[in-house]
Amino acid sequence: MAEMPYEIRLTRDLIRCPSVTPKEGGALDLLQVELGHMGFECTRLPFGEGAARIDNLFARLGSASPHFAFAGHIDVVPVGNEAAWSYGPFSGDIKDGCIYGRGAADMKGGIAAFVAAAKRYLEAEQLNGSLSLIITGDEEAEAVNGTVKMVDWMTVTENIPDFCMVGEPTNPSVMGQTIKNGRRGSLSCELTVTGRQGHVAYPHLANNPIPALFAMLAPVNSTELDNGTAYFGPSTAEVTGLKINDSASNVIPDQVTAQFNIRFNTEHTVDSLQGWLDEHFGRLAEKLQVSYEAQFWSNALPFITEASDHLNIVRETVEQVTGQQPDLSTTGGTSDARFIAKICPVAEFGLVGQTMHQVDEHVRLADIETLTEIYFQMIRQMDS
Ligand SMILES: [Zn+2]
Repeated sequence: MAEMPYEIRLTRDLIRCPSVTPKEGGALDLLQVELGHMGFECTRLPFGEGAARIDNLFARLGSASPHFAFAGHIDVVPVGNEAAWSYGPFSGDIKDGCIYGRGAADMKGGIAAFVAAAKRYLEAEQLNGSLSLIITGDEEAEAVNGTVKMVDWMTVTENIPDFCMVGEPTNPSVMGQTIKNGRRGSLSCELTVTGRQGHVAYPHLANNPIPALFAMLAPVNSTELDNGTAYFGPSTAEVTGLKINDSASNVIPDQVTAQFNIRFNTEHTVDSLQGWLDEHFGRLAEKLQVSYEAQFWSNALPFITEASDHLNIVRETVEQVTGQQPDLSTTGGTSDARFIAKICPVAEFGLVGQTMHQVDEHVRLADIETLTEIYFQMIRQMDS
């Protein structure tokens, strides 16, 4: 076999590090060695205590501007049913032009591609500005001791980039389809409604909280809340859970609880949604003579990176290398880009995400090489 390209070897070696959150599994150590050889100044940034402790790595080369950053996570989700895997989930086995293993797509292949692109650039050209890598070990779990705290540290230490690429797998099936330039926010709510328990045969002596709960949920039960914006699709709401104080079939329960989640665009804020729902819940509770308690929590605000020279470089390099015209999209779940958006413009482009979080997660070797070329071209243009 011909010698393996650097980006493929690095992807394989990273997959072989069993870095299921919160363990780094040797992946950060490996990156620190590789980046150290290339001249990067590496800072390990562990946050959190005890079992929640997470290790992270910030690496920067140069101090001048333009400062172009790449962000990614080395942690992976658990393997699931290990017996169902065709190849070991931490083997990095290569078969029929694909590399297999947990994290191949999400997102060790993306990190390897960026490191390889930086290496190629530094070997070929003089670095004008500076390059940095923001590598976290806490994306797949709670995301409280990773990027969110690294961003604070970067602010305090004046390591603010001019632009940041996040290497999440953004392409649905082939390279070049999708760049993400924003994400929706997320607001969850647990709503508990209390009525009065009683015998089903004597409903006039009871007050059933179930119809009241259903009426309260109507505006968030599998609906769209707006028509979308120039950048975003409509905000959507889904009921995700229902819990009834269980009793016999002849008893009207006294209490019911539902959970719902809203994915919202920039037409809304957490405050505006909460205010609207509290008003609606209060009005119905009074009318239906029940009491209620609503608990809200949000772990993501919407963000958008609008058209700019930097975003044009991202589009042009993807198009130039893949021959595809990529869509700018804000769909999908939240990502760590939401934290980075607080300090600099950010966009996401990476591998094909088809098998992420699945048994037999894999990516095509050719896609890793394509991504390395795209990142190389991006670095070249961002650095000029
Ligand atoms: Zn990911």
